[in-house]
Amino acid sequence: MKFGGTSVENGEKIRHVAELLRQYHMDGNELVAVTSALGGVTDGLLNTAREVSVNGKISLVKELIADICKKHYDAINAAIDDDDIRSECIEAIDDRVDELEKALIGICYLGELTNRSIDYISSYGERLAAPIVSGSIRSLGISSRSFTGGEAGIVTDSNYGSARPLEDSYMRVHERLCPSLNYQIPVVTGFIAQNKQDIITTLGRGGSDFSASIIGASIDADEIWLWKEVHGILTTDPKIVPNARPIPQISYVEAMELSYFGAKVLHPRTIEPAIMHKIPVRVKNTFEPDFPGTLIVAEQKKIQDVVKAVTLINKVALINISGAGMVGTIGTAARVFSTLANAGVNIIMISQASSESNMSLVVNEEHLEDAVAAVRSEFTTNVVGDVAYDRDVCVVAVVGAGMDGIPGVAGKVFYSLGKKCINIIMISQGSSQHNISFVVSSDEAIESVRTLHEEFELDK
Ligand code: ASP
Ligand code: MG
Repeated sequence: MKFGGTSVENGEKIRHVAELLRQYHMDGNELVAVTSALGGVTDGLLNTAREVSVNGKISLVKELIADICKKHYDAINAAIDDDDIRSECIEAIDDRVDELEKALIGICYLGELTNRSIDYISSYGERLAAPIVSGSIRSLGISSRSFTGGEAGIVTDSNYGSARPLEDSYMRVHERLCPSLNYQIPVVTGFIAQNKQDIITTLGRGGSDFSASIIGASIDADEIWLWKEVHGILTTDPKIVPNARPIPQISYVEAMELSYFGAKVLHPRTIEPAIMHKIPVRVKNTFEPDFPGTLIVAEQKKIQDVVKAVTLINKVALINISGAGMVGTIGTAARVFSTLANAGVNIIMISQASSESNMSLVVNEEHLEDAVAAVRSEFTTNVVGDVAYDRDVCVVAVVGAGMDGIPGVAGKVFYSLGKKCINIIMISQGSSQHNISFVVSSDEAIESVRTLHEEFELDK
């Protein structure tokens, strides 16, 4: 069971989490808890580290340290009743905060912040949280121990900021955690691990879900539960459609399609280990634990709803690369993509019609200028005649594995938008047929999502 930053935001919430864990333990389950940092702490650490690496202000370090101490002391006081456990916890926090302060002051003097030091600094969020969660469980009378990701056995490559577990991690985690599960709840820091040299690494922002999935796969869990502050994965963004509904069950493949398209509940890499070991993943609401949430499973149930969700991505831009010289010129696409890769541009959507005379791409809006400049300077005008762009666009995606082989879904999508006079600017559907994505102008985006949510009766 993994608890996100909002679930462990403060002492009261940590106590609630400890009570949940106790309940499931008492019901006869063997559990591993994975915790995020207390809400907002990772951001605070990263922001201060970045600032002081530029301005060297030790006063900012002191401020942050005071904030962090207060936040974690408050949490200890609210989450733990037992005096001995409290003092132990305070001692553990003091030691770690001391190290953190030294590291941050080091950054002030050095004036540089490497990826390795970013990982080291940001690891403190989870390293301060785990002893408190574990202490809170112990103060409810259940045996518990806290581990860093590395102590639990997760060893990664040295790709700081987005490290990947090495294969032998799975065996090691199994050996370290399994023997005590019948009497103890281990609490493992999410997000962080270490490399072979014992240097701290992180799995990327939001990486605690990934940690939980690695651990779940290692211990051969029956289910991996991700406790969040939402009811599960929803049919769309409830800010756009207030009667958006949690999806009771979806497949891994669909969940991946959704996460790519900004549903933000799950990062695709999170469920990779679960997929490999075919372990169901459940997304549940910490604050409404009786609600079943969303279960993500291997098999693709072809049920009546062919379409499961509609998503929207903002802050994107469209690039249209055109020229008669592109037709039949082998290697044009390769050059476009490697040029964009070299310019550090991530491509979100691709479409080229069979005329080959133009290619449309969607990129993050912040990459637009770099992307356009890079493509313009790569090609002579006799190949690419024009590189046009449009910032005022959004991507809408309709997702569902049940669309595979079912005629008429695309027809329904575009017909219903056509009836509302919504113009489609670009379309892409991969041959997996799990996702139909298209581009509309920004001012028609919300209307598009609402129309489709209604058309496919996703609120029912
Ligand atoms: N604390 C980390 C972050 O905020 C990891 C996580 O919360 O999953 O990115
Ligand atoms: Mg977080």
